[in-house]
Amino acid sequence: MDFYSAFLVIIVFLIGLSFGSFLNVVVYRLPKKSSLVTPPSSCPACENRLGFIELIPLLGYLILKGRCKHCAMKISLRYPLVELTTGLLFVLIYTYFGLTIDTLFYLTLLFLLLAIALIDLEHRIVPNTMVAVGLGLGFIFYIPALADLWLNLPAWMVVKRNVIDAAGGFLLGGAIMLIILLVSRGGMGAGDMKLMALIGLYVGLRGAALVMLLGFFLGAVVGVTFMVLGKLTRKDALPFAPYLSLAALIEVLWGEQIWNWYLNLLN
Ligand SMILES: [Zn+2]
Repeated sequence: MDFYSAFLVIIVFLIGLSFGSFLNVVVYRLPKKSSLVTPPSSCPACENRLGFIELIPLLGYLILKGRCKHCAMKISLRYPLVELTTGLLFVLIYTYFGLTIDTLFYLTLLFLLLAIALIDLEHRIVPNTMVAVGLGLGFIFYIPALADLWLNLPAWMVVKRNVIDAAGGFLLGGAIMLIILLVSRGGMGAGDMKLMALIGLYVGLRGAALVMLLGFFLGAVVGVTFMVLGKLTRKDALPFAPYLSLAALIEVLWGEQIWNWYLNLLN
């Protein structure tokens, strides 16, 4: 890797870290319905405002050795971990799709899914706001792709996805989850249905099918493991968004390969 490429990767990582820092704020404040911008962040224990160093993603945590500078309360390891995860996600998607609109497109989806998964884990809800933002941004990304069917737009504006296929993914994702919702009678929330429609919009028909299969598989493996360990009874509600989100990441990165592998099995 030459110097310029390495430099770009570092920049992308730093942007990812900042988005991770913002993600912590979103996950902490959105379920409480408090504003995302005011008041400035403060220590949950002593309520002192966070200083400049504390606001630096990842590094702030390391410099302060994981404790609040005022009251020495332990800062949850979750904050730097979420920042690091977001940073790595940005690098992963950038390395895969390069300096293209596709990187922006998939990062939009996966960043929102990470937020939704974390909120679902903690509060057992899929926030409507996040789904709405995801759908809105998705539609905006598809406007040039739709216009490109008639006009010849410059390639950098156009997401490499088929608009009809996206609409199909949106409908299939929502419809199948609606059927499961009705059949399971409360085993699955309406939030999961909206979430799957959102994922379908970004990954299309085939992607939506793979994400659902993979999501149920991952959820079943983890659910059965916890049941065997006795940490879970059949009646506990499980957050499903983390599995769908992880499945969506796998689809974005390896969906094509998985599909080809499956077709080869059939032959
Ligand atoms: Zn404090």
